[in-house]
Amino acid sequence: MSATAPEIDAGFSFDNSYHRELAGCYVDWQAATVAAPRLLKLNRALAGELGLNADRLDSAAGARVLVGNSVLPGAQPLAQAYAGHQFGGFSPQLGDGRALLLGELIDRQGRRRDLQLKGSGRTPFSRGGDGKAAVGPVLREYLIGEAMHAMGIPTTRALAAVATGEQVFRETPLPGAVLARVAASHLRVGTFEYFAARRETESLQRLLAYAIARHDPGLADHDRPALAFLAAVVGRQAALIARWMQVGFIHGVMNTDNMTISGETIDYGPCAFMDRYDPATVFSSIDHHGRYAYGNQPGIAVWNLARLAEALLPLIDAEPDRAVESATEVLQRFGPAYESHWLAGMRAKLGLVAAVEPAGPESGPETPADEMAADDRALVRDLLDILHAQAADFTGSFRALADVLDRDESRLRVQCRDPAALDPWLARWRARLRVDPGLASPERARAMRAASPIYIPRNHLVERALAAAVEEGDLEPFEALLEVLGDPFTERPGLDAYTQAAPDGGAGYQTFCGT
Ligand code: AMP
Ligand code: MG
Repeated sequence: MSATAPEIDAGFSFDNSYHRELAGCYVDWQAATVAAPRLLKLNRALAGELGLNADRLDSAAGARVLVGNSVLPGAQPLAQAYAGHQFGGFSPQLGDGRALLLGELIDRQGRRRDLQLKGSGRTPFSRGGDGKAAVGPVLREYLIGEAMHAMGIPTTRALAAVATGEQVFRETPLPGAVLARVAASHLRVGTFEYFAARRETESLQRLLAYAIARHDPGLADHDRPALAFLAAVVGRQAALIARWMQVGFIHGVMNTDNMTISGETIDYGPCAFMDRYDPATVFSSIDHHGRYAYGNQPGIAVWNLARLAEALLPLIDAEPDRAVESATEVLQRFGPAYESHWLAGMRAKLGLVAAVEPAGPESGPETPADEMAADDRALVRDLLDILHAQAADFTGSFRALADVLDRDESRLRVQCRDPAALDPWLARWRARLRVDPGLASPERARAMRAASPIYIPRNHLVERALAAAVEEGDLEPFEALLEVLGDPFTERPGLDAYTQAAPDGGAGYQTFCGT
């Protein structure tokens, strides 16, 4: 665990509020020294965003910094404490078992960002684990996080993937790596659960004040801060999960320790994108009962938020019944908020662009906008039912809808076993478009293509890229895929292979837990 001073000045300037304000919520710790750190990939754009010198980081000395082996001036590496509900069961002590928060950086836009290492060795929270990560899962997190970011979906991001030159042992020996990742924060639902379960109300209170200052500064003077904070997290998660659903993303392990307070997607383990539309789709090898299936994600999000609400109860109201009543009222906002985000996003995918006034919770009798929302919801649901029955590719089908406006139905029809099944729906959709004024067809098609990516991380392509990197040390397929995913909405010539699902439609594809 010895660390040396860095040989480069890459412009790191830390301001470690977590360390300063949350004593008792972490353990000071150091990264394990690794044999031969070597940069696999540096995210130069993100480095720039953080005000770091990418040229200096892109070096042997930079690799030592990014693996935690030379401690940067101002860094105060620590392992965070947290708990979590995993597959429904409560684990009172999880914590950073293979991760370290190096510190916080203020980026060029003035935003506070955590810099964390994942795979940096054992910590007091490691339990039986080795504290390590393998190259495959590290590159997978890099790739999928960047794909999500390029789609405009809130996410943690990879700053670098560094090979350690060591082996990690899973079922077989695998090359090891460390991921340096950047997040709005690493506060999780499970962070609050940790102190609530221990009945450490003072720590819980400090954690809440910290989270509010960091993510919801506008609530600092609220007369019911815990409740308002819960509402803010509910709102962010409702928006986030709607975005996942709109691109067919399946997180795979939505435990409460993997759900952020910030509203960013975090901890890409056995995640994957759905090919054929089927709400029951599960890829994770450990999700035997489909708890985290695609279609369950909104429901699981509310379940997780209910765990956050429980943790906050003592801070919501001193009178327990009143606390529960208030928290329940706030949790009930998830459904309508999610529905409204979902519908807005799905309308955009169908090219429905005219503004529709959202119905407020107390809007009373049905308004024309409510009626239209109900009709549009049915239009979307009916299309999804057809895609399901036709075993159609989710991403490919939505993207191909835009072509229909250009009088080309071919790419949509090939998605369906029986293309004629689409015709009545297409007629309804065209009729709906006629009462959605504002855009001529070419512009509408363009708007649709901005709402439905053509390039997503196709499972077989991700696997191929990781296999080449792990088995042959060949990073070219990874680089190529990363490049394509960096601009997911713009079709470019020569990239057809990146739009195709695996020949068998991805049937039987399994992801493993990324540990
Ligand atoms: P995850 O499923 O990756 O979100 O991790 C759940 C918990 O297990 C967290 O507390 C991790 O720190 C811990 N963990 C996962 N993998 C390892 C590992 N290889 N060594 C030590 N702890 C781990
Ligand atoms: Mg996790």
